[in-house]
Parts: sequence; structure tokens; C-alpha cells
Amino acid sequence: MRTPFDVLVIGAGPAGAAAALAALALEPTARVGLVDRAEFPRDKVCGDGVTAGAVAVLRELGTTAVLDGLIPVDALWLSSASGHTARVLTGEPAYVVPRRELDARLLHAATSSGAELLTEKVTDVRQAGDHVVVNDRHAARCVIGADGANSVVRRQLHGSRQPWAHTALAMRGYATGAAGTPRLQAWFGSGSRPTYSWLFTTGHGPANIGCITFDGSLRSSRTALVTAIREQFTDLDIDDATLRAHQLPLSTRRPPAARGRVLLAGDAASLINPLTGEGIQTALLSGALAGQAGIRHPDGPAQPYRRALRRRLARHLLHTTAAARAVRDRRAIDATVSAMADTPLVAARVSAMALGTGTLSPLAVAAIIARRITGPG
Ligand SMILES: Cc1cc2nc3c(=O)[nH]c(=O)nc-3n(C[C@H](O)[C@H](O)[C@H](O)COP(=O)(O)OP(=O)(O)OC[C@H]3O[C@@H](n4cnc5c(N)ncnc54)[C@H](O)[C@@H]3O)c2cc1C
Repeated sequence: MRTPFDVLVIGAGPAGAAAALAALALEPTARVGLVDRAEFPRDKVCGDGVTAGAVAVLRELGTTAVLDGLIPVDALWLSSASGHTARVLTGEPAYVVPRRELDARLLHAATSSGAELLTEKVTDVRQAGDHVVVNDRHAARCVIGADGANSVVRRQLHGSRQPWAHTALAMRGYATGAAGTPRLQAWFGSGSRPTYSWLFTTGHGPANIGCITFDGSLRSSRTALVTAIREQFTDLDIDDATLRAHQLPLSTRRPPAARGRVLLAGDAASLINPLTGEGIQTALLSGALAGQAGIRHPDGPAQPYRRALRRRLARHLLHTTAAARAVRDRRAIDATVSAMADTPLVAARVSAMALGTGTLSPLAVAAIIARRITGPG
């Protein structure tokens, strides 16, 4: 075996790239490895929505250059099944970037900073004394599992998968024919459980369309998702070959984020927003915190990492978990969208929680409850 890695990151998506970037920003001479089973650029099933909150984390990382030349989007339109529409300003610009491109840009930033890229499928992660051994081949002082929703590192660390009750299922595709300005648009479904369809477009090239269901019991609802997409987007020319579904591990149930010298980040740590399915922001943020902990605390990164995660996310996670429990039916969604449409303050607080790491205020909660009682009008 060669000199051990200071930090070895498994998975080179947003969480993994952010981990490598943050580690190397702290210690440019550190030996940081990024292992991914895929050759980049590679597709990733996603809505391609890079929220204002994700952009803010990229700024913290000093890597907003990965967005150079891309077209910003400054508003999100939300429509409820009862016909209310709220225009949510995202504060800072958001972006719609095919993941094939975004992830390749992030990875390029990481390797340009000095990360070593290894193309290899990880099947085995073992803690052995003061090192972690990966695939019987690589030794590292700290390993970061950033290997996504079906994380091998998580399974080896905790022997567990995400429970279905805390998993969303979403399908995305690409379609042409969506004219108009760049926009993020979502329509909530009229069924008894929360679902929404989206259209995210820069106005150039194919639009990203899709549908998400937060009903964990619908594990085999691929057909239902295809039907929902076809019904919502009758006016678009959908490229059937791009319709692909994937699970989303929601933050309403999270595994311990670290043990010993192994840390979990992004989807591997179940950090997806249970209200929206947004996960790029928390992937970038948790990846960055993990990378920093690996460098700053080479002999015990677990506790400092868990503390850092708590500091940045605990309140937000508490609020999103409570909100996800409360917004479980169509009437609650109607009331929320209607209150957002009428009251900019409610729109700002809900979007800060749904698209960033913000929290709800008592005033916003009161406005939504009042609307629920009086009806959305
Ligand atoms: C349909 C859909 C729509 C979504 N839309 C949005 C959206 O619009 N905005 C948003 O913010 N979030 C969205 N999400 C969530 C978002 O895609 C994820 O939260 C985000 O990709 C998490 O990043 P990550 O780095 O943790 O994992 P990933 O992006 O999944 O990266 C994991 C990496 O690990 C690699 N890997 C996996 N296993 C191994 C292994 N054994 N060995 C080596 N490498 C391995 C993979 O090849 C991959 O490159 C969506 C998700 C879905 C399914």
C-alpha cells in the first residue's frame, strides 16, 4: 500500500467533491482521494435545480466559478391543486444545471485543487486501528462516505438501509417545447398524499421535468410516476429514454453521521429535504463539514463532524421534520400555498426552509394555520 490518504472520499457527486475541496482548502498539501465507480461526466437522476441555498454553500467553498456562464433563475412558481399560485423569490439566483455538467464541473474543481481521482467501485470499508482500509487496497486516516442514496459505506458502518417510510421516490425526464423564460415551476397533485410535478428550465435546451411522491409505501410506483408526468406535460415532447426514477432518503430519519474514522455526507447521511426533495445543498454543506473535520481532527473526526452538522442543521432539520408531518394532505398544502401567495413574509419563510436551511417563524405558522381553518379562499 502507498502512503495513506489523509482523507479518502467515496463518491464524487456534490457531497464528495465538496468534501475534497474543503479538505484541500484547509490543507493544500494533504493527500485527498476521490473514488467513484463512474467515469465522469456521468448522468445522475435529478431535477437539476441548484437552489439559492446551494449557491450560498458554493460561495462558502469559494467555488461559485463552477456556475460561470450558466443562466440564473430568480423565481419559483408553486401551484396548489386548488388553483392557488405563489411566486417565490429565491433571494439569490438559483440555477438549472444538468447534473452531468454540474458534477463534472465540481469534480474538475476538486482535482484542480489536488484531489486524486480513482475510478473504482467500493465494496469494502474496514476500520483497522488508526486507519480505514478500502477495498483491501487503499488506507486512509479518514474515510468520507459520499456514495449516495444506496451508500455501501453506510451499510458497512451501520448495517442498515433507509426505511421506506422515510424515502421519497421521484422520476425525471427531459422534454422539449417548454418556451418562455428560465423558471422553476411546481404543481402539487390532488391525491391524498403529497406529490408534485416540476418543470425546471433555463429556456435553452431541453427542460427537466419530473414528479416526486413522498408516500413511502409506494415503492413500486414507477408506472404511477410515468402516468403523472404524461398527464401534467401533455404539451411537451418527452424523451422517453430519459425517464428514470430513483429513491430519495429523507432527513426525517437519519443514521448516525459518523463512527470512528468514517463519516457520512449527503444522501448517504439521509439529508434530503422532506418537503421538496432538494438535496444538493445539504450534500455540499455536509461534504464540506466532513472534509474539514477529516483534516482538522485526524485522530478523531467523528465527534467534531457531528457537532458541526448539528450547529449548521439541527434547527432546520427539526422544523422540516415537523412541517413534513403537518403537511401530509392536500388541504394543508392548499393552505400553505395560498398563504404564501398572499403574504410575502410567509412565502419568504417557507421558501427559506424548503429551499435553504432556514426555519419557520411563529408568525408564518400562525398564518398557515389560520388559512387552514378558514380555507384557502
Ligand atoms: C428524480 C430526482 C430529482 C431530484 N431533484 C433535485 C433538485 O432539483 N435539486 C436538488 O437539490 N436535489 C434534487 N434531488 C436530490 C439530489 O439528486 C441528491 O440529494 C444529490 O445528488 C446528493 O448528492 P450526493 O453527492 O450525496 O450523492 P450523489 O449525487 O448520488 O453522488 C454519489 C456518487 O457516488 C458514486 N457511488 C455510488 N456507489 C459507489 C460505490 N460503491 N463505489 C464508488 N462510487 C460510488 C456514484 O457514482 C455517484 O457519483 C433529486 C433526486 C432525484 C432522485
